[in-house]
Amino acid sequence: MKRSTGQDPSATARWRPATRAVRGGTARSEWGETSEALFLTSGYAYDCAADAADRFSGDQSGMTYSRLQNPTVEMLEQRIALMEGAEAARCTASGMAAMTAALLCQLEAGDHIVAGRAAFGSCRWLTDTLLPKFGIETTIVDARDPELWEAAIKPNTKAFFFETPANPTMDIVDLKAVCGIAREHDIVSVVDNAFASPALQRPMEFGADVVAYSATKMMDGQGRVLAGAICGTEEFILETLLPFTRNTGPTLSAFNAWVVLKGLETLDLRIRRQSDHAMAVGRFLESRVSRVLHPGLVSHPQHNLAMSQMDACGPIFSFYVDGGRTQAHGLLDALELIDISNNIGDSRSLMTHPASTTHSGLDESVRAEMGIEEDMLRINVGLEDPQDLIDDIDQALQAVGL
Ligand SMILES: *Cc1c(COP(=O)(O)O)cnc(C)c1O
Repeated sequence: MKRSTGQDPSATARWRPATRAVRGGTARSEWGETSEALFLTSGYAYDCAADAADRFSGDQSGMTYSRLQNPTVEMLEQRIALMEGAEAARCTASGMAAMTAALLCQLEAGDHIVAGRAAFGSCRWLTDTLLPKFGIETTIVDARDPELWEAAIKPNTKAFFFETPANPTMDIVDLKAVCGIAREHDIVSVVDNAFASPALQRPMEFGADVVAYSATKMMDGQGRVLAGAICGTEEFILETLLPFTRNTGPTLSAFNAWVVLKGLETLDLRIRRQSDHAMAVGRFLESRVSRVLHPGLVSHPQHNLAMSQMDACGPIFSFYVDGGRTQAHGLLDALELIDISNNIGDSRSLMTHPASTTHSGLDESVRAEMGIEEDMLRINVGLEDPQDLIDDIDQALQAVGL
């Protein structure tokens, strides 16, 4: 691989997914470093004043300021676009910066959007609280039923917004059906693909227009940095997204971009192994508790749909104990190996109680509607030996009388 093969479409277009994940976007400096360089610089110097003017007018290609471009961030953006199969991608400082930018960049007062009911807590705040403050109306639907999406469309509907699998109930949205309805009505579909990552699910293959990420989760995958990304057509990214992000500045730091570049090299390995471990832990829990919400298990009401659009189940699922918050908290407190933590996508196993953490900001009625009950727990299954995880959960279940 020569210096900038990773940014040469005539090479990258031929590469298979695993090669893209390791080498996509790489552009080497004059030193020929094998691992991507970390460019910690906020500005760029020009050889002469005319160059600076040409750089600003766009007559000369090159970078002007790291709120707008950075070589390390650009390598990550190109790698994510290649992995997604998108024409272009831009990164942001966090997943929520990506979701906010992906919606606000294309909406204005008087518009209407339809959003999935089961969603990350801050995504629901965005659709239910922030957008209405600026005159953008939201209709929330049970995202599992494509007919409800169609029925919610109004003349001023501009976007559909949902995640699949959804946090924390693992609701699955039929990507082909819902993105197809959006297309028919000239509505932009925005899919939050944080749970599956491009290694397991590529929504654009099913007709999604915009795919947004919390790269904090599976992409970093080792619980180190926050990051986000937005993928779309070149036209959407350049004409609609960039004017918003360049001027408002939810920029990803070069250091965090570098960490995520390293994470992507092992994303496929990690997520497939973690999915295998999640299957083992899920099967064990199914033998011990009454309800498990796990897209990889046939007991999940949308198992077939999930497996028709995902290559594997991913590391995250939820389950219910039956003794309310006291028992759920008791189980967490009895864990010896698995951490009590609300993060996901980490190579460590983590467990949380959504009703009192990630989704505590929502009204109790909204939580009830979403199926987030007081005795629900969500687990992110990591790379530890699955038998050690099962042993830990087993002793914690026994400690709370299950
Ligand atoms: C974590 C998460 C987000 C927010 O991402 P941050 O990087 O924490 O800002 C958005 N959507 C989903 C589905 C998530 O899991």
